[in-house]
Amino acid sequence: RYIAFEGIDASGKTTQAKLFVDFLKKEGFNVFFTKEPGGTIPFFREVLLNKQLVKQAQLFLFLADRAQTILTIKKKLDAGFVVVSDRSFYSTLAYQGFGDDMDIGFLKQANEIATGGLKPDLVFCIDITTNEMMNRLNKKDAIESKPVGFFERVRQGYIKLSKDYDNFYLVNGLRSIDDVFSEVVEIWKSI
Ligand code: C5P
Ligand code: MG
Repeated sequence: RYIAFEGIDASGKTTQAKLFVDFLKKEGFNVFFTKEPGGTIPFFREVLLNKQLVKQAQLFLFLADRAQTILTIKKKLDAGFVVVSDRSFYSTLAYQGFGDDMDIGFLKQANEIATGGLKPDLVFCIDITTNEMMNRLNKKDAIESKPVGFFERVRQGYIKLSKDYDNFYLVNGLRSIDDVFSEVVEIWKSI
């Protein structure tokens, strides 16, 4: 199984993903944790977060990064691991699609090429308001410095995705870390 955590910046998805990895390990699973961008080739992440790039350049770098990471994920799944990933192709639909207004149909096709069609079996999307995001972020990278309207579109994109895909769960991230995590575990046990 391949499980992804999604959400806007500072939503707490990385914290939740790591808690979930520990939880699954305690349950006896072999777990492999990875992240996008940079989970396989850190250089991609470095460029994306430190250079002011046009959105087209960002898109192709995210896709290149994903193509490499998906290869690792496939190998781990074949070896019997449960894979937990901090972000997945849904980030591209939300950020480059809804956020940067690039064509969703094209993005889906491009993702098919990057991933060979492999999609997460389950997605936890941690949802916070853009107000809360701005309060939580202190030092911003190149993408986090985009205007708040961009993140509002990304957030609404995620909310739409949660309606379009039935393995895509929206979790209210405005609560304490423990409360958010309890809901993640509840959903996991219910499916
Ligand atoms: O999740 P994390 O903050 O580590 O992601 C790195 C950066 O890449 C973030 O600023 C996020 O907003 C951005 N990103 C993006 N498009 C994606 C995935 C991530 O703009 N498809
Ligand atoms: Mg970030």
